[in-house]
Parts: sequence; structure tokens; C-alpha cells
Amino acid sequence: MAFEGLSEKLQNVFKGLKGKGSLTEADINAAMREVKLALLEADVNFKVVKEFVDSVKQKSLGEEVMASLTPGQQVIKIVNDELTELMGGTGSKLTYSPKGFTVYMMVGLQGTGKTTTCGKLANYLKKNGKKPMLCACDIYRPAAIDQLEVVGKAVDTPVFTMRESREPEKIALAAIKEAERKGCNVLIVDTAGRLQIDEELMEELVRLKGAIKPHEILLVVDALTGQDAVNAAEGFNDRLGIDGIIMTKMDGDSRGGAALSAKKVTGRPVKFVGTGEKFDALEPFHPERMASRILG
Ligand code: GDP
Repeated sequence: MAFEGLSEKLQNVFKGLKGKGSLTEADINAAMREVKLALLEADVNFKVVKEFVDSVKQKSLGEEVMASLTPGQQVIKIVNDELTELMGGTGSKLTYSPKGFTVYMMVGLQGTGKTTTCGKLANYLKKNGKKPMLCACDIYRPAAIDQLEVVGKAVDTPVFTMRESREPEKIALAAIKEAERKGCNVLIVDTAGRLQIDEELMEELVRLKGAIKPHEILLVVDALTGQDAVNAAEGFNDRLGIDGIIMTKMDGDSRGGAALSAKKVTGRPVKFVGTGEKFDALEPFHPERMASRILG
């Protein structure tokens, strides 16, 4: 699981802090140097690390903390709070349209796990009492449509396709109608992916967004690609505007830095993490719980 290395290092730093009855500024500076190194090693964006450490330091050196009976504990609490905030605070929940019918538009680069995640999301929604439908809007790769159909079967969710169409907007609009006719209340639109962000893809996605007005655009990124995942998130957000990030492959040997940097760099929260290839391997992202897990 991601964060193992980071978790171990931070716990070591804290062991040192907890052991001391009183703390000096030098103690805090030394501890923060180690926190900084641990975060950088976990592949957290360097600007994010700097701001994080500066903020923790400033708060830790406050009079109430230094003069308290348990300064080490207080510093750990500050790190915990700041880490929670860094990962998105409380704003990481998936939202549903108040109109009763919700459209999610799934975007992302090829190979990140977008199509698999569409199935995982459908599975998650079903468990939460929703009636989802999937829609295949990749007009370039027939294999992507086949794959979504396989995924749909696996999670027992209908899949809307229009193989002859070359217009994603038309396909998605027809899917909305069909979903409503069938009594579904969520449509998950799988879009085309590319190996890199390019203008043509972005224009297509912007057009699709304009046509279907999704309640949320969810960007799928691969945690294993580290800061590239964060850069992709920045690129998609600048050009398209996204509402949340789904970070896949957090079960692999990713160092976790992308999940820690994404919110701060893009302003958009991580809403889910993918933790395996199976369709139930999708977890809502809870910054608070994740911070506690990292800090032990
Ligand atoms: P797409 O090209 O973005 O649609 O990617 P796919 O959905 O085809 O996924 C690419 C590969 O990543 C597949 O082998 C998936 O099983 C795998 N994958 C997707 N999500 C996860 C995850 O959270 N953990 C792991 N270990 N593998 C994943």
C-alpha cells in the first residue's frame, strides 16, 4: 500500500518528539527537516512540502504549544490537522445532482484505469442504492467499447453504446434519454483517452461537457506515475475544469506523493482511491482517516 515508507519515517520523527518533556525551537526545526525529507522521498511536490513544513513550524512555535505540558503531542496534532487539510479537508465527497438524475463524466489518459474505474464506480453506486448506467463515448477505439461492455456485465450494469456514431455528444445525450427511460438515476460517461493531453482531445471533452453538463467531471489518474499524475490533473483542470480526482493503483508500490499533492496543486480534491483490479477495490477518500493512517 502507498504511504508505507512515509508512515514509517514520520512515526520515527514523532517518537523522538513524544519522548521529550519540553521542546526547543531547535528540536522543532530538526524534526521538521526530517518531515520535509520524508515527504520529498514520498514524491510530494516540493512546493507543497515547503508550504506544509513552514506552516507546521509556524504553528508549532506558537506560545501555547511550546509552553504546554505535552508539546510533542501538540506538534503531532498540528501535523495531523495540516495533513488532513492538505489532502482536502472535508470537501472530498462525491455529490449527486439535486434534480434526481446525475451525470458523471469520466476523463483521463489511456492506461490510468479509467474504464475499470467506471465499473468500480457503478458498483459503488449500486451499493449505495443508485441505479447507474454506463455510456461508451470513445469513438476511436472499438476495443474500448467492448471493454466497457465486459465491465458492465461484470458489475451487472447496463451499457449504452452507439458504435456507428462519431459524435460523443450525440451518444451521451441519447444515453441520458435511454437511462431515464430505463429508470436509472445515474449515467457514467466513459470518454476517450490518449497517451498525452492534446488539444484535439481537450476540445472534444470541452464540447461534450457543454452538451451534457455533467454534475461532476471525475479525472482518473494513476498514482504510480507520481508527479506526472499531478501534472495531468493540473492540465485537465486548466483546460476542462474538473470536480474531483480518482487516484488508481494506490495498492501498488506508489509512494503516495501524488495523493498528497493533488489537492494543493490543482485545487480539486481526491474523491476516491483505487486499491486493486477488482470492481470492489474503490474506496472513498477520507483525508482525516488517511492522515491518521499515515501518522499511525
Ligand atoms: P484505461 O485505458 O484508462 O481505460 O485503463 P483500464 O481500465 O483498461 O486499466 C488499465 C489497467 O490498470 C488494467 O489492467 C486494470 O486492471 C488496472 N487497474 C485499474 N485500476 C487499478 C487499481 O486501482 N489497482 C491496480 N493494481 N490496477 C488497476
